[in-house]
Amino acid sequence: MTPAGTDKPIGRSIESSLRILVVDDDAVDRLTVRRALAKSALAAATIEEAADGPSALAALTGSDAGRFDVVLLDYELPGDTGLDVLEEMKERGSTVPVVMLTGQSNPVTVAALMKAGAADFLTKDLVSPERLESVIRVAIRVARAERATRETSERLATTLESIADAVITVNVHGNVTYMNPAAEALTGWPLSEAVGQPFESVAFVVSAEWSDREEQPDLLHQHIAKVTRGLELNVRADMTLVSREGRQLYVDAIARQLRDAGGSGIGAVVALRDITERKRSETALASAHAQLKDQAEQLEQQVDEAAALTEELEQSNDQLLRANEEAEAARKEAEEANKAKSQFLANMSHELRTPLNAIGGYADLLIAEVRGPISDQQRADITRIQRNQHHLLSLINDILNFAKLEAGHVRLTPTTVAMDLILSGLEELIAPQLSQKELRYTYNGCGETYTVYADLERVQQILLNLLSNAAKFTPPGGEISIECEASTDRIDVLVRDTGVGIPPDKLEQIFEPFVQLDRGQSASSMGTGLGLAISRDLARAMGGDLEAKSELDAGSTFVLSLPTKQPAAR
Ligand code: ADP
Repeated sequence: MTPAGTDKPIGRSIESSLRILVVDDDAVDRLTVRRALAKSALAAATIEEAADGPSALAALTGSDAGRFDVVLLDYELPGDTGLDVLEEMKERGSTVPVVMLTGQSNPVTVAALMKAGAADFLTKDLVSPERLESVIRVAIRVARAERATRETSERLATTLESIADAVITVNVHGNVTYMNPAAEALTGWPLSEAVGQPFESVAFVVSAEWSDREEQPDLLHQHIAKVTRGLELNVRADMTLVSREGRQLYVDAIARQLRDAGGSGIGAVVALRDITERKRSETALASAHAQLKDQAEQLEQQVDEAAALTEELEQSNDQLLRANEEAEAARKEAEEANKAKSQFLANMSHELRTPLNAIGGYADLLIAEVRGPISDQQRADITRIQRNQHHLLSLINDILNFAKLEAGHVRLTPTTVAMDLILSGLEELIAPQLSQKELRYTYNGCGETYTVYADLERVQQILLNLLSNAAKFTPPGGEISIECEASTDRIDVLVRDTGVGIPPDKLEQIFEPFVQLDRGQSASSMGTGLGLAISRDLARAMGGDLEAKSELDAGSTFVLSLPTKQPAAR
């Protein structure tokens, strides 16, 4: 606290506000002082007096202690207690400057007085107005300067104790002279232990780049040594500090030279700021940023890949379209070629049938002896001609039929017909083949209500083909049977035989044109290989189907399916 009156200037104009306490047991001496002051430039000052130590102390250390600007204290109070009063004043915290009045200036006494805190001394014999004024003025000035310095120091100490940054001072040898509480917390060293220690023992600090470098680590105390010599007045860098407990902290450091009043370097002050948290966030931010960058790059790559893929897809799409167009063109070409082939076959068959019919007609004339009698030998020859003519004619008929079907020239006239009507008349048609090979034939009738929507003649044609195949591929004594099965929308006619059978891998092939299996039949019994192809085409053209099942050497079953109603699409 600033005592009242301390701020009073000590210029000549306002000496009137000065308050001086004169402590002396001798009234004459007190009066001498009063008179000297009255004659001096301090004549307007207020003078109070005390005759002994206790009353002086009471005035100086009481509640109104601050009212005095200076004390003139007699050294030779009763029992030589002047020095005691001075010491007691200092003990009680009084800051009022004290000028000791001594009988004579003994150097030992003077030394003791100055040590006890006297501002100055004056030998009573030498008290003169000028001398007194000068001594008082100097004492007050010095006291005020001291007080100001004390206040500044206190303010500085409070500041240093309350700031968050660590502050460490070192002397010219680099040894710690002071550190604030924040520095104690940062380094882990208490001030009492740290004082006198080399800076690097208390705060071992290396620059952040240290671990990345191969050269000597960049140590803070080396900088400080330069700073104390005044070579480098201010260093600042991101640094790593290893605390007493071994914790690694990031710090920001500033070092400045400390100089005395004369400007000579007396050490350095180092301020360290703990930036560990900031560093961590920066590192986290940097790694997040790097991650984001990576992801962005990956995304870009994916986008590029997707674009490349799209391009590739577009290309293959174009290729597919081209391939499709080519396939379509090839299909059309093949269709055209097929039609041309069928047309050719139809024409050829027609051309062949005319002369064949003529051969048949003339053979008939000869055998009927219209041209005259023939010998037995000739009859046998003509019969052979007739048989081959029939065979050739049936082959040509098959080819013609197939060619017509392929060329789409076959007209169907479907109606609703009772299945039994067709099936019951079949036996009669193949009777010669049955009896020739002594084959048993079974047909037990088909339900009266079983009707199909089909072309009657074509169905007959298909079934006759199936039955003549069955007779052809069943050894003598075997059996052929016909059965009927109905389901919701179709009737299945099953033509069974106990013949040679068909290998499983050929069950589909036999429906292809001109396919004949080598079963060891004589050439004459062989057909064209067109019968089943024609039959299946016809069945399908009527909305039905034809399929085969078989067991080798046990027999075959051909299933002709026909719709019961007119198919909606037809
Ligand atoms: P083709 O009878 O004029 O040779 P198909 O198209 O009617 O011509 O028959 C093709 C082939 O299918 C026949 O050559 C024969 O090898 C085989 N095949 C047809 N029906 C039967 C059957 N019921 N049993 C055994 N094989 C058969």
